[in-house]
Amino acid sequence: MYLKSLHIKQFRNYIDQEVNFTAPKTMIVGNNAQGKSNLLEAVLLLATLRSHRVSKDRDLVRNGEAIGEIRAVCQRSPESYPIELMMRMRASGKRTLQVNGVNQARHLDFLGNLNAVMFSSLDLDLVRGSPESRRDWLDTVLIQLEPIYINLLQQYSQVLRQRNALLKSIKQGQIQYEPQQMALWDAQLVTTGTRLIRRRSRLLERLTPIARTWHQSISGGSEYLEITYVPKFLFSPKDTIENIHQAFFEAISQKAIIEQHQGTSLVGPHRDEVLLTINQTPAREYGSQGQQRTLVLALKLAELDLIESVIGEPPLLLLDDVLAELDLQRQDHLLNAIGDRIQTIITTTHLGSFDAKWLNSARIFQVENGKILP
Ligand code: ATP
Ligand code: MG
Repeated sequence: MYLKSLHIKQFRNYIDQEVNFTAPKTMIVGNNAQGKSNLLEAVLLLATLRSHRVSKDRDLVRNGEAIGEIRAVCQRSPESYPIELMMRMRASGKRTLQVNGVNQARHLDFLGNLNAVMFSSLDLDLVRGSPESRRDWLDTVLIQLEPIYINLLQQYSQVLRQRNALLKSIKQGQIQYEPQQMALWDAQLVTTGTRLIRRRSRLLERLTPIARTWHQSISGGSEYLEITYVPKFLFSPKDTIENIHQAFFEAISQKAIIEQHQGTSLVGPHRDEVLLTINQTPAREYGSQGQQRTLVLALKLAELDLIESVIGEPPLLLLDDVLAELDLQRQDHLLNAIGDRIQTIITTTHLGSFDAKWLNSARIFQVENGKILP
């Protein structure tokens, strides 16, 4: 996967900026708040249609402007034709997506043209942060591996929103609780929710052995990593759909009274957890910050490997300000995994804070106040 050029207009703090990527590694160097993360965010948006930092397009469009735009030319392999991607976003929230100048009405038809793995300091939350960051991580990987997943996510969140609205009206006494009406929403929550649960859990089954191998190799130890998907009911990845549905329904009915009391849905993939354990100890309680960083690095390398094996081409790697936080041994692991095979865009405030080996085959840009200079 190659990103050949990027052209962003009225996006974040950029007005109109084109960048050509001519080397396997691109370094973006700049002080704080100049636009380093914004540039990587633009690339990630084309790969996942999601930002890892915000959920509203209003925040992505340059302040005071109505429309922002990201264009990119990319290529799956040296032999394949270049593809032009365009994403136009509006402060109002409506998006236009194009592939080679042709409008794509469905997100699913736009996805899959560019694949990328982002590794930013926000990812340290994967171990220490809330369950939401782990769910988001799974969702971002799944959107790239099976673009249909973005539809499944939308269907679920629509059902969830409506079910929550109903529960809220019941709580506020605006409407009466009617078992039949609620049962309809329960059924939809269970059907659409189970699709997410099964896909997330299957993803972890594939990701875990790869992450475990990386983790052992980086830590140089015999630490045993396990990653488990934990819904709000008893669950095994081998359960049949019928069994999952039944367990899901039972959990909902057990929570029925509390849900009406709180006015919100308490069971479903929007509440699920991803359990990371090392030698059977929860990873957040295990070891030092450095050891937790090793774990996150292993997760990211596993993500990279898995996307490559499913897609057949290595994804882009976006390293946002994380290199300096890794010691030289971990930097070496990462560098060896990347080689010159994986196109990598790296942001940093100081070139001096990481090993000089990174600069081989690298092109360096400066970023200053939303302008990129060679
Ligand atoms: P750091 O080293 O601190 O991570 P950075 O170079 O990664 O900095 P970015 O996050 O890319 O910084 O850019 C931050 C700048 O972009 C801030 O000055 C912020 O005010 C500005 N910015 C963010 N969103 C918008 C927007 N919608 N319109 C205009 N400016 C924006
Ligand atoms: Mg940044």
